[in-house]
Amino acid sequence: MTERLEGRVAVITGAGSGIGLATARRFAAEGAKVVCVDVDEERGAKAANEVSGLFVQADVTDEEQVRAMYQTAVDTYGSLDIAFNNAGISPPDDDSILVTGLEAWKRVQDVNLTSVYLCCKYAIPHMQRQGKGSIINTASFVAVMGAATSQISYSASKGGVLAMSRELGVEFARQGIRVNALCPGPVNTPLLQELFAKDPERAARRLVHIPLGRFAEPEEIAAAVAFLASDDSSFMTANTFLVDGGISGA
Ligand code: NAD
Repeated sequence: MTERLEGRVAVITGAGSGIGLATARRFAAEGAKVVCVDVDEERGAKAANEVSGLFVQADVTDEEQVRAMYQTAVDTYGSLDIAFNNAGISPPDDDSILVTGLEAWKRVQDVNLTSVYLCCKYAIPHMQRQGKGSIINTASFVAVMGAATSQISYSASKGGVLAMSRELGVEFARQGIRVNALCPGPVNTPLLQELFAKDPERAARRLVHIPLGRFAEPEEIAAAVAFLASDDSSFMTANTFLVDGGISGA
């Protein structure tokens, strides 16, 4: 593997599982120093240990913890080159607007959207000082299309991530900071497995709409993130990067 990320310092939120974990492995294989952030201590520490990186336990909805996790990365490794703002939660069991209560709605916005606002707010000043940086925010294919399953709070949170990424990509382009939104289709991770275990028919309904006829493996998403993090994507910012098996194009 070419070491496109040699010497770069990357902070990954939600690094203990699924897409974040696969990306931590991929970044490390490409030469990056990886800071693994997760609210779950056991999972996050295990990931950091595996990639010989640093574990920072943080809840990405907590402003002070978000500020501190980037400061720790810079204090430990000397820079912040890549921020992969990826931690997120799945929708409530029935996420129809007629069912989802205000508290459940707010919780999804907090973890999936406000967290990305906080991460960008505290990552950007470090990147401004360096005059460069790459931010990748995990949205979802449901940010650009209606899903076959009703998930109002989740889709709204991901639409917000997409719009915010575009805004920031434009605002900070001249300062060398690229901001792109990653929009995965359904990925075979614990988040998806849990959702489908509760409602097996949901999996079948979803699968039917994916032209490639299967769910993604986390490693396929990690490959796209590594591209967005690296100089191979140097002319891309404010971009909606769909890695979705064709679901949004069908
Ligand atoms: P996952 O559940 O496997 O991993 C998510 C990780 O985030 C977990 O380790 C969890 O502990 C951590 N986390 C959750 N809340 C946190 C918080 N408040 N602070 C810090 N860490 C927290 O999920 P995944 O499938 O890998 O999803 C990663 C991202 O990709 C999410 O934003 C999700 O919405 C998005 N996404 C997933 C899919 C999919 O099909 N799996 C599709 C599109 C988008």
